[in-house]
Amino acid sequence: MDKLKAVAIDGPAGAGKSTIAKAVSRELGWVYVDTGAMYRAMAVYFLRKGIKADDAEKISAAAGDAFVTLDYVDGAQQVFLNGENVTGELRTEAVGNMASASSVYPAVRTKLVELQRKLAESRPVVMDGRDIGTVVLPDAETKIYLTASVEVRAVRRYKELVEKGETPDINAIAKDIAERDYRDMHRETSPLKQAEDAVLVDSSDLTIPEVIEKILSIVRRSTP
Ligand code: C5P
Repeated sequence: MDKLKAVAIDGPAGAGKSTIAKAVSRELGWVYVDTGAMYRAMAVYFLRKGIKADDAEKISAAAGDAFVTLDYVDGAQQVFLNGENVTGELRTEAVGNMASASSVYPAVRTKLVELQRKLAESRPVVMDGRDIGTVVLPDAETKIYLTASVEVRAVRRYKELVEKGETPDINAIAKDIAERDYRDMHRETSPLKQAEDAVLVDSSDLTIPEVIEKILSIVRRSTP
């Protein structure tokens, strides 16, 4: 079967997927698709409607009215919800938690997976998420499972928040990461797991440039 010119990067929250995927896409000259941002845009819609994350019926119905599209401005992904650019609203804890909770519903996933496949059909992409190598692009030429220990990911997030001027609690961050991992790995639809043909990259003891180089060398090996 013909392989798809694409790099699929999956892994748990906070493993550095977006930083790494962005850099890898720049090196390859391919488009970067951040699928987490799409789930976050849907989450903005549910939050605005005041829908509770555990209200399966309302979430599934509302998913039908939320249309997420992407565009690129100077190479940076912009996310639109029903035509409105919501990129600036996606990175809050509330939106992250709603995205994590609402991404378990098939009505939400089916819609976004279809859009993700379309994006990858039209051009070579570097796409990151939780189910890219397993469900969205099973024929991707290169599949990476990027991970790091909970402790390392908690410290990275802690530093990010301190840089933003916040005073976070490292134990609360670690607990949140562990809970999100559990939800992502145990949901019924498209749980986070390493695809059989994915290469495992553990970034716990690597610098960002080392991880980028490692992934580029895997891409070179798997691209004819
Ligand atoms: O990666 P990010 O933290 O932005 O993703 C937000 C949430 O969206 C994740 O917690 C995850 O539950 C969900 N997600 C998903 N499948 C993807 C990408 C993200 O379920 N392909």
